[in-house]
Order: sequence, then C-alpha cells, then structure tokens
Amino acid sequence: MGRATRPSPIKDMRVLRSGAIVPDGAERLDTGARRLEWSLGWRSLVRGDFSFGTVPDADEWTGAAERLAAFTMATDPHRLSVDDYMSFVDGEDRTVENGLGRLIADWGKNIPARLKHAADRIAWDDGGAVTVSGPWGSVKGRAVIVTVPTGVLRDGRIHFVPELPDRTLAAIEALPMGRFMKIGLRLESRLRDVPEYAFDISRANRGQAVGFHVHPSLPLITAIVAGDHARDVARMPGRDRIAHVTDACREAFGAAHPAIVAHDHYD
Ligand SMILES: Cc1cc2nc3c(=O)[nH]c(=O)nc-3n(C[C@H](O)[C@H](O)[C@H](O)COP(=O)(O)OP(=O)(O)OC[C@H]3O[C@@H](n4cnc5c(N)ncnc54)[C@H](O)[C@@H]3O)c2cc1C
Repeated sequence: MGRATRPSPIKDMRVLRSGAIVPDGAERLDTGARRLEWSLGWRSLVRGDFSFGTVPDADEWTGAAERLAAFTMATDPHRLSVDDYMSFVDGEDRTVENGLGRLIADWGKNIPARLKHAADRIAWDDGGAVTVSGPWGSVKGRAVIVTVPTGVLRDGRIHFVPELPDRTLAAIEALPMGRFMKIGLRLESRLRDVPEYAFDISRANRGQAVGFHVHPSLPLITAIVAGDHARDVARMPGRDRIAHVTDACREAFGAAHPAIVAHDHYD
C-alpha cells in the first residue's frame, strides 16, 4: 500500500529501577542476556531442553535478562523452553506509518467482511460444502479458512462437525497461547524527559514485569504486562486494574508522575 516504515524505537529501550533510569542499564541488560545465553547454551547441550526458571540467577542482570526474555515471549521463565528461546530468530522491528491497524483497515476496505459475527459451528463435510454458523445465521461455501487463535479452538468454542482429526487436536493442544496485555492510561499532561520504551527491573525482579511505552507527542502511556501477571491483571475489576497499573507507573517513573484523568485499555 506504499506506506513508509521506520525502525521501531524499542531498540532504544531504557532500564528503570526505583523510579530512575539506570544510566548504563541497557548495556548491563545486554551483558546479562549474553551471560544467560552462554550459561543456558552449554547446559542445554549437556541435558537437553529445560525451562528458564530452573537455572539460579547468577546476578541481578542475568536475572533481569531472563525475565525480559520471558516477558517478550508473553510468558514466565518457568514456562519458557531454552531450546525454543535459543532457536528464536530475531529481526528488525519496524513500525508502519499511521499504524498497522490503519494499514489493515485500508487494505481490506473492499473485502466484504462482517464484524461481530462469531462462528460457533462449522459443518465441514456438508455434502461437499462447508457451513459456518453462529447466532447471526449461517453461510455456506466450498471451503473455510479458520484463523481464530488456538486458544479459541482448544476451548471448543467452535463445534466442528465432524470432529477435527486427532492430529489436528494434538497440534492445537501443543500450541497454547501466551498472555500479553496492554493497558493505556491517558495522563493529565505529557511525560517529559522519559524514554519512549522502558522496562522496570525492580518490578520484574518481584515477578511482576512491566514494560512501558510513553507516547512521543500525546499524554498517553501504555503499560505492558505478560504471563501470569497479565492473567492476574486481566482478572482484576477495571478500577483495581487501573490502580495497579498507575502504581506501577509511579514506581517506575517516580512519584512526580502526572495525575491520570482518564483511561482505556485493550488486550
Ligand atoms: C497486547 C499485544 C501486543 C502485541 N504486540 C505485537 C507486536 O508489537 N508485534 C508483533 O509482531 N506481534 C504482536 N503481538 C502478537 C500479534 O498480535 C499476534 O501474533 C497476531 O495478531 C496473531 O494474528 P492472528 O491472525 O493469528 O490472530 P488474531 O489477530 O488474534 O485474529 C484472530 C481473529 O479471530 C477472531 N475470532 C475469535 N473467535 C472467533 C469466532 N468464534 N468466530 C469468528 N472470529 C473469531 C478474533 O475476533 C480475531 O479478529 C501482540 C499481541 C498482543 C495481545
């Protein structure tokens, strides 16, 4: 669609501890990550795959690197496979002009899509045709491409007739969803002199890793939580969730954090 892209500023992420930026935090985290990979690498050669959480932290920065690695994979260290992590190929993150949502909306504007039409039944051997149905009615076609998350399939929210083959069910079971959630807070005024992306290692070390994105021009901050922490935050009533995230912002950026006047969240 001819949209410009630019490298994501996430590469310039800064590390926060006790309300302040750690001056050489990013470098120390990087060193921690290399030490972690070295330590995990030789262990996995000797004993095969195991989870991150089974290795005692050598120091604060390898521990923080371990928690950040699990965080970026939407999980917790004890659920992250060392083999999976070591075979992960990272590339350059780029952001799309006007946002990815806008790109998809523009790109698909001529596609006759219907929103809010959840399917709850797919009869996929219906006399050579496929019938997809839900509370809104049904639609029949030659084929269906199912792109719902594996969690939706695993929870049986779509009833397949006939049932899916065993090997497909086994594959769904083997591909669980991570947990990742963003909570956007609108602030009274813009936060100044703070990095666009930051990771608070004080909270991470207490098992509640939180990442932050501070909007470069709007009074908006987005807190990002993952793994069991995201599950716990998702279960909180709205008011408690906002209070929890506000506390995390104050702890990370210091008590001078401007008052929050409104909020929205998405996950
Ligand atoms: C908070 C958050 C931040 C993320 N940030 C990034 C990032 O920065 N970079 C990145 O690369 N990835 C990111 N990801 C991951 C990325 O969003 C997912 O990998 C990607 O969206 C998966 O695409 P998908 O089409 O498989 O599933 P989805 O995007 O989840 O699409 C599935 C669709 O199925 C629909 N659906 C569900 N149930 C039914 C039903 N019964 N009937 C009909 N439709 C149904 C849903 O409404 C949804 O529209 C992030 C994820 C989260 C949650």
